[in-house]
Amino acid sequence: MQQVFVVGGLKDQLKLLISLQELDIRILEKQSIINEIPLKISGAETRLNKILANLEKIKQGQESLEKKKRDKERALDDINEKIKKLKTRITQIKTNKEYQAHLKEVESVEKERYAIEDEILLIMEEIETSLKESKSREETIRSEKNKVDEFKKKLDGEIVEAEKELSALHEARSGISESIDEELYNLYMNLIKSGKGLAVVEAKEEICLGCNMNFPPQLFVELKKNEEIIQCPQCHRILYFKSD
Ligand SMILES: [Zn+2]
Repeated sequence: MQQVFVVGGLKDQLKLLISLQELDIRILEKQSIINEIPLKISGAETRLNKILANLEKIKQGQESLEKKKRDKERALDDINEKIKKLKTRITQIKTNKEYQAHLKEVESVEKERYAIEDEILLIMEEIETSLKESKSREETIRSEKNKVDEFKKKLDGEIVEAEKELSALHEARSGISESIDEELYNLYMNLIKSGKGLAVVEAKEEICLGCNMNFPPQLFVELKKNEEIIQCPQCHRILYFKSD
């Protein structure tokens, strides 16, 4: 445990309060590190989930393209069947007029077939592009997932470490707080609440380092003796003087 500053003539109670404040600052820091870790993890997971949702969308697009392709292929089969039937009818044709009409019909159905074939080719191109895209996304996901796993492992380790340190800090804290006068301890705790975690602060060159206010020179003279508990007239924090 870090030792308190070596200050000449410091009353024991003030010395203990300074140590307690030091510990409380470290406890707060440690606690906020621990509190932030789940947020960091969920932030990384959210990024990964976004990429996963994106891939899911691409895959759904692929499925609907495949379905469209199957429908077109079925339509192509129907057309081919139609053409086959038309062609067998040629033996029944008797007049030139009938023959011309037959040719026209075959031509029109074949045009339809070419159109469907073109559509199928386009769909196949779309599928190919989409497959390339999903493959690249899958690679990104794999590497992102590895990164997230590594990150989580690292943070899990940090949590264990921070909690170990935190419990050591709490242990040291209760050792110190037991020796502090009860009334003084209550004052300290109230100041911790009202002073955003800062109850004991250094006074340097007639300035309270808790609120940066100047205070009367006479008070500073008293303070330099470090013989009594003196509170800042402005923020009421307990002051101490650190001699060089
Ligand atoms: Zn102050």
